[in-house]
Amino acid sequence: MKRAVFPGSFDPITNGHLDIIMRGLTLFDEIILAIGVNADKKYMFSLEQRKSFLEQTFKNQTKIKVTTYQGLTVDFCKKMKADFILRGLRNPADFEFEKAIAHTNRKLEKIETVFLLTSSGKSYISSSIVRDVIRNNGNYTSLVPDAVRI
Ligand code: ADP
Repeated sequence: MKRAVFPGSFDPITNGHLDIIMRGLTLFDEIILAIGVNADKKYMFSLEQRKSFLEQTFKNQTKIKVTTYQGLTVDFCKKMKADFILRGLRNPADFEFEKAIAHTNRKLEKIETVFLLTSSGKSYISSSIVRDVIRNNGNYTSLVPDAVRI
C-alpha cells in the first residue's frame, strides 16, 4: 500500500492545501493528514478546531485520515508505516525551505518526499495570509474550504 503523510500546521487549512491533497489522492492509496503539535508555536486556531476543519472537509474521503503527532515527522511516518511525505511547492522560497527538510529527512530515514507544484491560481494562498484577512475582518471564504467558518 502506498501511504503518504501530509504534515502541516493547517492553521487553518486553505484551498491551496486542499488542491495538493486532492491531487495527491491520484498518487497514493492513503494520505494521513498529520497536524504537528509544537508547544512553542502560537496558533490562531486550537488543535481541536484545526483537526475538526480537516475532518469535516474530508468526511467523504475514505482514503484520507486525520491525526496529530509530536516529534520528528520521519518517526511518525515509520510508526504509521508510511514511505512517503507529501508536500506542496508554491515558489522558490518554499523550494529552498522544503529542500533542506527533505534532505534531512532522507538522511534520517529511507523516506521519499513527493512534491506537487501548486495549481496556477492557488500559489498566492497561504495560511498566514488567510489569518491576516480574518484578523482584519475581511472575506476569507473564497480562500478556504467550507468547513473553515468562525
Ligand atoms: P507548515 O507549518 O509545515 O509550513 P502549512 O500548513 O503551512 O505547514 O503547509 C503545509 C504544506 O502545504 C507545505 O508543503 C506547503 O508548501 C503546502 N502549501 C500551503 N499552501 C499551499 C498552496 N497555496 N499551494 C501549494 N502548496 C501549499
